[in-house]
Amino acid sequence: MATIGFIGLGHMGNPMANNLLAAGHDLQIYDLVPEAMQVLIAKGAKAVSAPGEVANGAEVVFTMLQSGEQVSEVCFPEQGAFAQAQAGTLFIDCSSIDVNTSREITEQAIAKGFEMLDAPVSGGVAGAINGSLTIMVGGEVASYERAIPMLEPLGQNIVHAGPAGNGQVAKICNNMILGISMIAVSEAFTLGQKLGLDPKKLFEISSKASGSCWSMTQYNPVPGILENAPANRDYQPGFTANMMLKDLDLSQSAAGSVSAQTPLGEHATQLYQKFIDAGHGQLDFSGIIKILSD
Ligand code: NAD
Repeated sequence: MATIGFIGLGHMGNPMANNLLAAGHDLQIYDLVPEAMQVLIAKGAKAVSAPGEVANGAEVVFTMLQSGEQVSEVCFPEQGAFAQAQAGTLFIDCSSIDVNTSREITEQAIAKGFEMLDAPVSGGVAGAINGSLTIMVGGEVASYERAIPMLEPLGQNIVHAGPAGNGQVAKICNNMILGISMIAVSEAFTLGQKLGLDPKKLFEISSKASGSCWSMTQYNPVPGILENAPANRDYQPGFTANMMLKDLDLSQSAAGSVSAQTPLGEHATQLYQKFIDAGHGQLDFSGIIKILSD
């Protein structure tokens, strides 16, 4: 079993670190907010007081933070993880961050004699708790193979997506599909209802017809169709609209950087922005149906 460092113990990092502990690894943990570490300390993790200390003596260091800026903040400073890690340490960044920053951080890690993977995840807090995340990995094949025993307690679908940054590319492309498809399902169910079609009937038909998709069959935005969907708890998240907008913004800046045309991605970004401006950023993203059905 390995000594693993883990930085960023929020909604996702906490249960992920917990699964690594449960798999028998020794954990050194750090979060800016000391309370975020309490549960893990009680289960045997060693809390430290700076990101560099997390890396001290660790074979592998995970980061699970909000943004590329935060990942840079824990890696680069004098008290940072790169300053104190030993040569050969494997860094695994599970945060969803922009592709270019991810590639730049990896380049610097490799120049310092470390290995690094970007490994963003999909599956939400429930997937993190159950160890059933989808993990999209970018980086060298040898580093990916080295990481597998550490990723297996976290996810059920672990895919090598190609060189550094490709995990982030997969994440923003997947979430752009999700953001757009949620709006498509919301529009169609709203239109059907206004034309006199019972949403349950539309579900019965479309969930087995060519319009079927995950947003419809697993996460339907109309109350009363899927028992466990956020629509049935007044759109309590789940996956917040703020998070969806963050990923759509990442998709749009990435699209701009390679002149890719994503007109629906752009429009979806504007609609989630409108939903958030109306004060709904903390609601589940499927609540977007509210601004379409008014
Ligand atoms: P979160 O805000 O709950 O957790 C982030 C943690 O990082 C916090 O505990 C914060 O205190 C800590 N932190 C911030 N800056 C720090 C620093 N400089 N040093 C140490 N700790 C620091 O976020 P989350 O929901 O766990 O999401 C983490 C990442 O996973 C994000 O990139 C998000 O987009 C992605 N993600 C989230 C979900 C989800 O459903 N929440 C799903 C998939 C992917």
